[in-house]
Amino acid sequence: MSKIAFIGLGNMGLPMALNLTKANHDVVGFDLADASCKEAEKLGIKIASSAEVAVKTADVIITMLPKGEHVLSVYQSIKSSLPANALLIDCSTIDVASAKKAHSLAAEDNHHSVDAPVSGGTGGAQKGTLTFMCGGTEKAFALAEPVLKAMGKKIVHCGENGAGQAAKICNNMILGISMIAVSEAFALGEKLGLSHQALFDVASTSSGQCWALTTNCPVPGPVPTSPANNDYNPGFAAGLMLKDLLLAQAAAKQVDATTPLGASAAELYERFTNDGNGEKDFSSIIKMLRGHADE
Ligand code: NAD
Repeated sequence: MSKIAFIGLGNMGLPMALNLTKANHDVVGFDLADASCKEAEKLGIKIASSAEVAVKTADVIITMLPKGEHVLSVYQSIKSSLPANALLIDCSTIDVASAKKAHSLAAEDNHHSVDAPVSGGTGGAQKGTLTFMCGGTEKAFALAEPVLKAMGKKIVHCGENGAGQAAKICNNMILGISMIAVSEAFALGEKLGLSHQALFDVASTSSGQCWALTTNCPVPGPVPTSPANNDYNPGFAAGLMLKDLLLAQAAAKQVDATTPLGASAAELYERFTNDGNGEKDFSSIIKMLRGHADE
C-alpha cells in the first residue's frame, strides 16, 4: 500500500483515484475546482486543503492536469513540501519540453519521476484498463509500475524522460490521421453508392483495417458500440484530438521532423472544433468531410 497524493480530480483523475482506493492505497486528493473536490469527497476520497498539504505525507504524487503549464506550476508549488525520495508520476498529456522540465524539477531534489500519459479515455479510467506510456529511469519506472497497475492493464516503459509523452503524441497523430482517412473513404463510398456495411466488411478484413474503422467506426451501424451510434457523444472529444495533434506539431517543429499528414490533420480538426464541434467524438469529423458539418 502506498500513500498517494492525487492532484487533478477531473474526468480522468477522479475515476483513476477511485481505482487506487479500491486497490487499498491511501489516497488524498486535491483539485482547484471546488465542485471536483466535493464530487470526490462524496465518493470517499479524502480531500486536502491544497496541493502542498496533500503531498506532505505522500510517498507517491500523481498529477492529472490539462496542460504542461499546470503540471509545472503544481511541481513548483509542491517542491518544498515533498518528503525525501518521493515518486512523482505525471499522467497528463503535455508537451515533451514541459515533461522534461518537470523531470528536471524532481531531479533537483533527488526525487524519482515518470511521465505516464494514458490512452483509453474516461471509459478506461473507470474500468481500470488504461494503457500507460512511461518515460523515466529504470528505477523510477520500477517504482511506478505497481501503482499504475491499479489503474491500467498495460504499462509500457517507452524510454528515458519524456518518452511516454513522445509515444502518446505519435500514437494519437496516427489516430487523427487514420480517422480522417477512414471518414474520407466512407464519404467517397457514399457518393459511389456503396453501403456502409459493404465497405466495412471489405476494409475491416483487408489492408484498410485500423482502430478508427473497427472500433470507432465514424458511421452508425457496422460497429454498434462506436460513438456514431450515439449522436457522436464521446468517446474521445474532437477538442482533445486537436490538443494532441497540436502537441505533435510542436514536437515535430522542435526536432525538425516532417509530418505533412499530421499537419493537415491538425488543420482539419482545428477548423472542425472552431465550428463548435469540440465536445463531440472526434469521429464526427466525417460530417465536415462530407461537406455538411451541421447535419
Ligand atoms: P479535466 O479538465 O476534466 O480535469 C483536469 C482537472 O485539473 C480539473 O478538474 C481542473 O480543475 C484541475 N486543475 C487544473 N489546474 C490545477 C491545479 N493547478 N491544481 C489542481 N487541480 C488543477 O481533464 P481530463 O479530461 O481529466 O484530462 C486530464 C488530462 O488527461 C489532460 O492532459 C488530457 O489531455 C488527458 N487525457 C484525457 C482523456 C479524456 O478522454 N478525457 C484521455 C486521455 C488523456
